[in-house]
Amino acid sequence: MTELAPWASDARRSRGRRILEPALDPAQAYQVDRERIVHSTAFRRLVYKTQVFINHEGDLFRTRLTHSLEVAQLARAMARALRLNEDLVEAVALAHDLGHTPFGHAGQEALDGAYRAAEPEAGGFEHNLQSLRVVDALEQCHAGFDGLNLSFETREGILKHCSRAHAATLERDEPGGVGHRFLAGTQASLEAQLVNLADELAYNAHDIDDGVRSGLLTLPQLLDVPLVRRFRDEALAAHPPLARAHPRRLLSECIRRMQAALVADLVQGTAAALRRHAPADAAAARLCPTLVAQGAAMRAAGTELKRFLFAALYRHERVRQSMQRARQVVAELFAAYVQQPQQMPEEYASQPARERAVADYIAGMTDRFALREHQRLTGRALFAEAA
Ligand code: MG
Repeated sequence: MTELAPWASDARRSRGRRILEPALDPAQAYQVDRERIVHSTAFRRLVYKTQVFINHEGDLFRTRLTHSLEVAQLARAMARALRLNEDLVEAVALAHDLGHTPFGHAGQEALDGAYRAAEPEAGGFEHNLQSLRVVDALEQCHAGFDGLNLSFETREGILKHCSRAHAATLERDEPGGVGHRFLAGTQASLEAQLVNLADELAYNAHDIDDGVRSGLLTLPQLLDVPLVRRFRDEALAAHPPLARAHPRRLLSECIRRMQAALVADLVQGTAAALRRHAPADAAAARLCPTLVAQGAAMRAAGTELKRFLFAALYRHERVRQSMQRARQVVAELFAAYVQQPQQMPEEYASQPARERAVADYIAGMTDRFALREHQRLTGRALFAEAA
């Protein structure tokens, strides 16, 4: 690893783990975190969880696992260019979606609605908070503690957003901890900020690809997006035979060029912000405004692309129909388990806080397991093709 920038997170100066583990080498703290994340059950489940498409719709669509790997890859490349901590970036990226429900945002909305209605004072279900809950409590694979006992900086990065109400609850349990910055209005580490944007760059690019693969987006339609048109024209100018090749090849080349330009822009924009603010160290960087940032032009182009994806893909009639049924699956699963907790495995059924246990159990499910459970408990198959 290249020498870290003065404002990078340094494992040897970590705020440490909630439970002391003196046998660990402090210099390897974030590497240990990354290993624990990759070996966790929640990480393996990401392979059967999706965001835009339902898991059984096709084998080549991104899953949360491949998405997390793409985020880690992008974030790591940018961290290297900026001399930020690559191990920390990778740990946060690999863990950032661990708390996601089955069926992407539709699943989260349904679970939030059901949990909020059943237990109003709990403040609802939020996937960032759930990711933290997975690594802090729900994983049960270490003898000495619940969860993965990760370093403060990795946990801080996993908690990307948090409402003030949830932050206040976290602050009560852990004063000055990972909830504090949402109350104080300070930033997370630069590494966490970087993963945040890498997440966006990753899904903007791969949702174009998956959208075309699914047939919901067409290439001519994509040419309405200036960012896509620009890199498609560049690709054709550099490789004229692409015009006669399979269209997928041109699309891949276009997306790769677009992503490389976005990455270069983000690195440049961030380097400029860092030069301007020149924080003395990682702690000082948390007191600055968000320093990991795209240039204005690319940010605007990215917003335009996102608007396009919303209208043409995320709100496509076919996606909406399948997400509507997914919402129903989650809502009916929630009702069924609250009524019959014995239908859950013993470790969930025996929890005194029933609604919380049901939310945790459902949140951990893969798309296909949720569909199977729904069919078992209700006798109905809302997704006939999954049966
Ligand atoms: Mg993500």
